[in-house]
Amino acid sequence: MPERIYLSPPHMGPEERTLLLDAFDSNWIAPLGPHVEAFEKELAARVQLPHAAALSSGTAALHLALQMVGVGPGDDVVVSSLTFAASANPIRYLGARPVFIDSEAETWNMSPDLLEEELEERRRLGRPMPKAVVTVDLYGQCANYTRLEPLCEKYGVPLIEDAAEALGASWQGRPAGSFGSMGIFSFNGNKIITTSGGGMLVAREQRFIDTARFLATQARDPAPHYQHSHIGYNYRLSNLLAAVGRGQLRVLDERIAARRKNRELYEAAFKGIEGIRFMPIDARGTCNGWLTVVVIDPKAFGASREDIRLALEKENIESRPVWKPMHLQPVFAECPVRGGAVSATIFADGLCLPSGSSLTRAQHERVAKVFLASRESEAR
Ligand SMILES: *Cc1c(COP(=O)(O)O)cnc(C)c1O
Repeated sequence: MPERIYLSPPHMGPEERTLLLDAFDSNWIAPLGPHVEAFEKELAARVQLPHAAALSSGTAALHLALQMVGVGPGDDVVVSSLTFAASANPIRYLGARPVFIDSEAETWNMSPDLLEEELEERRRLGRPMPKAVVTVDLYGQCANYTRLEPLCEKYGVPLIEDAAEALGASWQGRPAGSFGSMGIFSFNGNKIITTSGGGMLVAREQRFIDTARFLATQARDPAPHYQHSHIGYNYRLSNLLAAVGRGQLRVLDERIAARRKNRELYEAAFKGIEGIRFMPIDARGTCNGWLTVVVIDPKAFGASREDIRLALEKENIESRPVWKPMHLQPVFAECPVRGGAVSATIFADGLCLPSGSSLTRAQHERVAKVFLASRESEAR
């Protein structure tokens, strides 16, 4: 069996190792520690915001953000349908109901037209506004904030940006994570940079970050005797992992360049081939290139998304269908959705290709060869 090619494996270097060993040797294993504070400062600076809280996951960051804007039982929260379940699950943790919005074709992210329809209809019918709007920056590309941000402001709904996949991306010159009242990032294993597991909440307003730190450390009142007036969580990031995160942040630009190069190499390899379309990149933004995603027209190409995926898997190459939209998930079957056909089509024919920043030219060639050969085996 040839060596396995992974979708998006961790990519560590000497800086990460040095910083991790520094944390270890300093005995700042717990609690928190200097690397946590430094990681927060460095990440906040990177996304041009004054405040950040390092947390145990991106999901935890979103959970706290939703709670801080007042989401609770019986509320509605609007969220993009084409995303990973972690964008919607925290809405349920709080007893609220996700209301899904379909993608626009231009960015694959939340359609501003459909969001406007949703908010305007509520206003017209005198129904309560959603408690929050969660936008997602899918596969490293920002949503259309030129329209989404003013819309949320106009209707007075807090915007929370799920930038878990988009660290280092931008929209009209502004960094991913800096839109709306709060942004979240993930450092899970296959993200563009990883701490093995971890997340970050970023905000312009300090009060959000102070409250997040308080809630994330079991909501201890300022008293020596462990007094509690609120229900808290155990959501902070370890100092060891923050050290790894600092090292990863230092090489983020290299990782972005390598991921963008992946897409260029796939584009070159598939040039002139019918039936392959790449995820569109809107010229108003810059994409961090997290994953290269193609949409297959099975008739024109000669094999389906699933034929290709299985052909790759047979050669020990990992690829993955596009996220199954939330409005098609059994667990969210009862939740309302506006639109749905755009994301359903992207899901039906979309495939994420191996996109690691450590992918070699030889590995690229292997992927492209098996990808293209999948047609012949299906022609019979
Ligand atoms: C990875 C991811 C998350 C969750 O991050 P974790 O750190 O794994 O909890 C949330 N939203 C999106 C869009 C993601 O891709």
